[in-house]
Amino acid sequence: LVDRMQGFGATIFGEMSALAARTGAINLGQGFPDTDGPAPVLAAARQAISDGFNQYPPPTGLPILREAIAAHQQRFYGLEVDADTQVLVTVGATEAIASAILALCEPGDEVVTFEPYYDSYAATIALAGAVRRTSVLRFPDFAVDEESLRAAFSPRTRLVLLNTPHNPTGKVFTRAELELVCALAREHDAYVVTDEVYEHLTFDGTEHIPVATLPGMAERTITISSGGKTFSTTGWKVGWLTGPAELVTACRTVKQFLTYVGSGPFQPAIAVGLGLNDDYYQGFSASLAGKRDLLIEGLEQAGLQVSRPAGTYFVIADAAPLGATDAVDFCWELPERCGVVGVPVSVFHDDKDAARTLVRFAFCKKDEVLHDAVRCLGALA
Ligand code: PMP
Ligand code: GLN
Repeated sequence: LVDRMQGFGATIFGEMSALAARTGAINLGQGFPDTDGPAPVLAAARQAISDGFNQYPPPTGLPILREAIAAHQQRFYGLEVDADTQVLVTVGATEAIASAILALCEPGDEVVTFEPYYDSYAATIALAGAVRRTSVLRFPDFAVDEESLRAAFSPRTRLVLLNTPHNPTGKVFTRAELELVCALAREHDAYVVTDEVYEHLTFDGTEHIPVATLPGMAERTITISSGGKTFSTTGWKVGWLTGPAELVTACRTVKQFLTYVGSGPFQPAIAVGLGLNDDYYQGFSASLAGKRDLLIEGLEQAGLQVSRPAGTYFVIADAAPLGATDAVDFCWELPERCGVVGVPVSVFHDDKDAARTLVRFAFCKKDEVLHDAVRCLGALA
């Protein structure tokens, strides 16, 4: 293994799902729903296989999906995106992130991001030979710290890698926070790559603000999303990016040599999902908000201190009140102690001390599973 990939090992998600399988514990570790997506979307995938969508799709994605993505950006955010030149379909958001970083960063360039960060960010920045510079979001409110954010920028800053709503914290960046990030990006003439895969998973009326809608940002922003989260089809790996034609072309140049194309019959199915009416989108986030409340109540009753997420399907809890001193040990012992699996947040940090006793739990599970989990967590109290 090359030097720049040393230390990455196996992903925490694979490890924790294996731990759940081995112990029979309830898996609130890896974030994936235990209920399949909307029936019309599933039916459309079956239909697409019957209709012969089984060979390589076009390199930028099937036109029907690119048009649906452009229409979605217009419908929800008023963003004008040209379906032919400003949309690239990828193999999940993961490939979109990799394509963007590899297309835009020279070795030695700096990427500013927040920690905790989604695990593929650090690995992809390393693959590109770039350097990550981070600003810490701190429990329990995870507010942006202006001073440390400013300090993360330098003359070598090439791009800012943002994620809102944010995994693993469940934070939804406020307009003021985004404006600060964007002002710094413009000041340093940096691109912004924004991972908005949880764009439709916000609660209590919290507004998701796409970076590309902020003044002066569309021309320097690549926006990434995925059908996996919005339509509960994480295994289909249909993602995409949108942005200025020149940047999208740069990403395509890289993408075509990563996978060329992928997810053939699932592309038209996700196009069907993007066209579903508002009831679907509102119903999905309302149902998740209820699940969030259920799990938070259980965690609090078990004695953990919880940060209430405004988005995503993750909640972070502090196990320190239970006497935990290291969440990594705590999470490995959790199946035995109470039959539940969670993820230690420190694995998403460079500054491990910032999250020493924090655990992430996923609540995208059936209500009965969450009730069981809450009962199990009671054993900790
Ligand atoms: N970004 C974030 C913040 C995520 O949580 C995920 C899903 N785990 C991804 C990207 C990857 O998305 P996909 O499965 O579409 O590759
Ligand atoms: N995005 C999911 C999570 O954060 C898992 C993705 C993965 O397993 N790579 O849990």
